[in-house]
Amino acid sequence: MNWLELQQQLTASKPVEVFFRDDDVDEDEPTLRRLLDLFAGKNAPVILGVIPAKLTDEAVSLLAKFSDSIEIVQHGWQHANHELTGRKCEFGHSRSFDEQFKDIARGQAQMHEAFGHDWFPAFIPPWNRCTANTHQALDQLGFRVLSQLHSVTSPLTGFSFQEISVTLDLFRWKDGATLKPQEELLSAISQQLTSSQPIGIMLHHKVMNDEAFLFVERLLETLRQSSNARVHTFGNLL
Ligand SMILES: [Zn+2]
Repeated sequence: MNWLELQQQLTASKPVEVFFRDDDVDEDEPTLRRLLDLFAGKNAPVILGVIPAKLTDEAVSLLAKFSDSIEIVQHGWQHANHELTGRKCEFGHSRSFDEQFKDIARGQAQMHEAFGHDWFPAFIPPWNRCTANTHQALDQLGFRVLSQLHSVTSPLTGFSFQEISVTLDLFRWKDGATLKPQEELLSAISQQLTSSQPIGIMLHHKVMNDEAFLFVERLLETLRQSSNARVHTFGNLL
């Protein structure tokens, strides 16, 4: 699969919903600025997962300048791992409902303090993993979206939130972050074009290099050239 083939497939495709979710926003840094400039320049929205306990005033001021092209949402309170064994989790099995509720509620309060009403009540659990206690806490706190990594199990239902999860990670994380080969990324996007769910591209500005930025830029251009593709926020996907 190459760019031209993807372009042709998009032209012949049914309408395609796409979103870009960038995680781990905490401070004003060059890679965050570059990402914000890229999406603003392409007139496409990017969803930003903010770490409430680490958010700096400088980052809040930076985001305010891009309010037309971003949707701010809540990531883990501190992005801290609390599991002693097994896979990393901030909202994992070793944490009680009360512990999880407290972290999400204080994150929510911090989001309100930093952004007022200018953020969307979506929650991204760090490492894209959480438990039934997390679901219950999000429901009680009135969250409208839970975004994890898409799995084969059917999306959760019966809560205040809908699950809108990412379907493709640009990076591989074994022994440090490595951008997946372009061919592999384009093939994955091509396969997902036939699915009925939105295509969710997961970004991490902190590890994005020139190659990763160029890939995202090219993808935004390819999507824009097709009248069948739309780039969304969580708010307008609901
Ligand atoms: Zn994260």
